Amino acid sequence: MATLDSLKHALRQKAKATASSPMQLLSDTQYSAGFDILMQGPGWMTYQDFIIPQLSQLLAPLFNSRIHISALEIGPGPKSVLGYLPSRLRQKVRRYTAFEPNGLFAKRLEEWLCSTSETESPLPCLKTPPGIHGIPFALQDSIGRGSSTGTSNNDEKYDIILFCHSMYGMKPKNRFIERALDMLVERPQGGMVVVFHHDGALHFDGLVCNRTASFPTGVVRVANDDEVLDCFARFVAGFIMQDADVDKAIRLDWRNVCRTLGRREETYPDHLLFSLPNIMAAFTQHATTLPELAAQVPLVKGDKTVKNWEACLHRPASIIRPTEVRHVQQCVQWALKHGVGLTVVGGGHSGHCLWPNVVSVDMGAFNQVHILRAGEDGGDSGSDPGCLVVAEAGCKTEDIVRKAMAAGVTVPLGARPSVGAGLWLQGGIGHLARLHGLTCDAIVGAVVVSVDPTCGKILCIGHVPSQQQPAGAVHPENGLDLLWAMKGAGTNFGIVVSVTFKAFAAPTYLTRNWVVPLIDNLDARLRLSEFDKLIARKLHWNCSADAYLYWDAGQLHLGVTMFESSTTGLTFATPTPVDATPGLEDDPKVVDSVSLFETEMYVSRMHGGHGGGKTSSFKRCLFLKHIGEANVADHLIAAVETRPSPLCYLHLLQGGGAVGNVAADAAAFGCRDWDFACVITGVWPRDQDGTEVARSAVQWVYSVAGDLLSLSSGAYGADLGPDPRDAALAAKAFGPNGPRLARLKQTLDPHSVLAYACPLPKTLMERKLIILVTGESCAGKDFCANVWVSMLKNLTARAVSISDMTKREYAAATGADLSLLLSNRAYKEQHRPALTTFFQEQVRQRPRLPEEHFLNVVYSAVDVDVLLITGMRDKAPVAAFSHLVPDRLLEVHVQASEQTRWTRRGFHGGNSDGDDNKDSNNSRSNLTALDCRPNLIFNNDTTGNEAAKRFAERYLLPFFHEDLQRLANMVRPIPDFPRPGIEFRHVLGISQQPGGLALCTSLLQTHFTGDWAKVDALACCEAGGLVYASALASLVNLPLVLIREAGKLPPPTLSVIKPPSHISSLASNDSKEKRIEMERDVVPRGASVVVVDDVLSTGKTLCAVLQLLDEAGVGAEDVSVMAVAEFPVHRGRELLRQRGFGRINIQSLLVFGGA
Ligand SMILES: Cc1cc2nc3c(=O)[nH]c(=O)nc-3n(C[C@H](O)[C@H](O)[C@H](O)COP(=O)(O)OP(=O)(O)OC[C@H]3O[C@@H](n4cnc5c(N)ncnc54)[C@H](O)[C@@H]3O)c2cc1C
Repeated sequence: MATLDSLKHALRQKAKATASSPMQLLSDTQYSAGFDILMQGPGWMTYQDFIIPQLSQLLAPLFNSRIHISALEIGPGPKSVLGYLPSRLRQKVRRYTAFEPNGLFAKRLEEWLCSTSETESPLPCLKTPPGIHGIPFALQDSIGRGSSTGTSNNDEKYDIILFCHSMYGMKPKNRFIERALDMLVERPQGGMVVVFHHDGALHFDGLVCNRTASFPTGVVRVANDDEVLDCFARFVAGFIMQDADVDKAIRLDWRNVCRTLGRREETYPDHLLFSLPNIMAAFTQHATTLPELAAQVPLVKGDKTVKNWEACLHRPASIIRPTEVRHVQQCVQWALKHGVGLTVVGGGHSGHCLWPNVVSVDMGAFNQVHILRAGEDGGDSGSDPGCLVVAEAGCKTEDIVRKAMAAGVTVPLGARPSVGAGLWLQGGIGHLARLHGLTCDAIVGAVVVSVDPTCGKILCIGHVPSQQQPAGAVHPENGLDLLWAMKGAGTNFGIVVSVTFKAFAAPTYLTRNWVVPLIDNLDARLRLSEFDKLIARKLHWNCSADAYLYWDAGQLHLGVTMFESSTTGLTFATPTPVDATPGLEDDPKVVDSVSLFETEMYVSRMHGGHGGGKTSSFKRCLFLKHIGEANVADHLIAAVETRPSPLCYLHLLQGGGAVGNVAADAAAFGCRDWDFACVITGVWPRDQDGTEVARSAVQWVYSVAGDLLSLSSGAYGADLGPDPRDAALAAKAFGPNGPRLARLKQTLDPHSVLAYACPLPKTLMERKLIILVTGESCAGKDFCANVWVSMLKNLTARAVSISDMTKREYAAATGADLSLLLSNRAYKEQHRPALTTFFQEQVRQRPRLPEEHFLNVVYSAVDVDVLLITGMRDKAPVAAFSHLVPDRLLEVHVQASEQTRWTRRGFHGGNSDGDDNKDSNNSRSNLTALDCRPNLIFNNDTTGNEAAKRFAERYLLPFFHEDLQRLANMVRPIPDFPRPGIEFRHVLGISQQPGGLALCTSLLQTHFTGDWAKVDALACCEAGGLVYASALASLVNLPLVLIREAGKLPPPTLSVIKPPSHISSLASNDSKEKRIEMERDVVPRGASVVVVDDVLSTGKTLCAVLQLLDEAGVGAEDVSVMAVAEFPVHRGRELLRQRGFGRINIQSLLVFGGA
């Protein structure tokens, strides 16, 4: 799709080529008519999906930190952009000025802002009338310190200055920004100049951005109608012809240009579409501080060319080339001081190593490889790690392989020689991966310059040979966390100076290539299946088979390369495609690790060979299983069929073997369970970089990746960057490790110095509550969820169905109609059995799928206070998932009688809610048979929503009562207790605070969901439980059952073994199991007992207590548990479930951070 910018150039070109008449600027009316077209339909989406959310996010901290805000908008058009911010932000704006040279717009703007009705006024709290100047914002003189802004008061200063709709006509742009920076309020600092601009790039020579964001998918839709096109074309071109006849003629030409470049889509056959990318650049007073850095560290002279074409199009603020670690530290210190980000250049293969208006740190000068044979390490670890390879961060794959090979060793790296540190820090898939694992798996240590507020410390992480440890380096306490993160997400936590790898003996390789022309799609499916089942799956770990699916000479081809590696002797005995397929085989080659680079089929053979830099490419990579199965194979074949240029292809690199031998959470690289890495590769001739051809290839890659995502078992993070189209892939890049990485990013890079690396999941907001609404089919789960959302008035609440994800994946795999599945009950009913089978099969193949689905739903709703999730299929969801999130997780089970459900089903002609559980094994139709009890049960037998509302008032709203927050505030966090690295929450300390015990006891009393009148006794185990239980016992007037260490109570007693509590096992290494006892006859058999404890963490103490009560004749069905605080991360509920106590009602007043 042509961009609006390319349309503008084409229109102007046409006018220049065909008309000699002078040009005339548009009248206000003409401009306004064109602008209105731009803002219609999807044009408005740019505001809705990009400008407004970005601006709200960017400005919220600034607005929150000031009592009043003064704002200047430059070229807002007929409506203030700030007027679309959330009301709590808009209400802060007390002074508003605008420069809007279009008289019509200025008038409309004034009317809008001065609207008399309070609800209509977008800036309702202005202290003075808006100052709207009907002139352009201008520089006065060539020095740039001018002030001819047209205002009577040139000293006016603003907290926020917004260039609303592009900076067209403002040259040089950096001077306009500098002028605006001068107009920011000086004290307090923190004011911002923000630019939104149509088009993909905007350069402000020498100025450094505080934050940037892009919206590459913006689109404008124009009616394919002569009059509309005339109006639109002159708006885009920016002029009309003075001579009326010439203008008439040019209009005809311009309509043709629009129709040639505009894309037509089936859904809007009468419209033309143009791409309208948009960017945001935000500056603070620190934007001009580059000279300060340049005075300390060496800069790259002239233009730096990196490998990646996209990065080459970006113009960074500057490129620093440190030659000493000290320089890297200075870069970090400068970035932290001025609140700006940095990018880092390794091998230069990613599109984001250079980023517009951001300073880039080129590590090219750190280009040494050191080989340390066993015993030469000089390290202080005590054990000899064998031969090590230390690669500095500017090394390329070939540098390492070549130097290591000379020493008879190797590191399992990637297939291309020029790729750099981004590969080993984020994964590293190569021909030795099946034998030795990914490159990141071979990392044993690293030297990193930290980007946390300690200002660029040099950290030695893991095992770094002593001779490679820079002077002043420290071994951080969180070294294990950092080493874990380096292995897969290592570009996000510091600037890496060097990496230490364990080395392996250098092998010799045998490579063989086959190319199989495919007759048709059926043949293609068959060959892929044969390749997968008969060849790839049979290979030993020292062999791998890569496949290429590509079109050449008008025909689809399957290319296969087989690699065999050996340090002793090659066998030549691997299965070959020849056994299965009539293919053309190349000469087999026996090569060493360096010559191996030249054997790549892509370089040497496909499309006549891609070597020599004739082409550019764009790649995204997903991990797939079962590529030979029809649903996957068909997607792959269809993907290549839709390629926008002949050179695009799919590359399937074999995984398995040692890659999958590492547990998903053992390193940050969490995607381990896959057979092939599918690299979707968009290719075009290099001289077409930045053109429509390149854009279509990029779009193809994203659209294929989007289609394959639901079939995939993860995405490769190594190529992903700040492009918003990468977000969906990045969400699948780290398997189950997202929450841990999010937390690490927050502590290790809290100011987002490395803001442009592979995006990590965001830490979840301190959300208050996630409610899992479960229940039988037609019990009314969705109905209830919606009623409860409406009850949570002062909070942001949302109800979502987790089963939509399965429906999406099912639709992608089977071709079922997704929109019907989501919205049409009859259609869904028809597919229900198949959907259930599909889900069960998925879970069989990917046992962690329910966890993935849960996290996806949670992460896609980080903006809400309360998230209600329906459609859950899991038996014990709170026990299974609460440790994954920092929120309180609650299961509310909705039940209704058979009769009611039957009536509802009949009445609605199907299920009354979005339930997909009917046929699943996990249908929780018989509550008494459940091995895990929901936190709350709602009986939804009555019609109307009154009962659901009352339930919310009684049981849900109390979670938001301020008393609970007061109680939480009394729990003091104590860092590094009882051991360094542990943050202790002093729950018992509540009782030491004035009013603490009374508050806690009263909350225990009111939050109990049972009936105190039916309770016979409270039980508690010393010491923590005793404090709260005694106070509560006195309040509810019940006797206590004391449980103490053996030997402290008079006989006869009952006793069981109690393992040490979580905290005492941390405090001392020799904590042993102890016996606990209770008096035998203190409670009658069958009595109803509430166990009270201060903390529920691992659940071991509680298990022992429950066991003891059981021995006393008080069974699980007669027990409830009230805990003051729960720590889900220790999975206490899961242990209780496993020990048969899942049916016990457990309530906790407070919940402290699971993930
Ligand atoms: C032609 C080609 C072939 C490829 N082949 C393979 C392959 O065989 N196997 C494979 O696994 N992948 C392969 N890839 C993907 C490759 O691993 C990623 O593109 C990788 O990010 C490139 O790293 P780089 O250092 O070359 O690029 P860069 O763009 O320099 O860096 C990539 C990312 O790493 C960050 N980074 C670089 N150095 C540092 C540092 N010292 N400290 C902190 N962050 C740093 C950068 O800021 C950037 O975010 C290939 C890519 C291309 C384009």
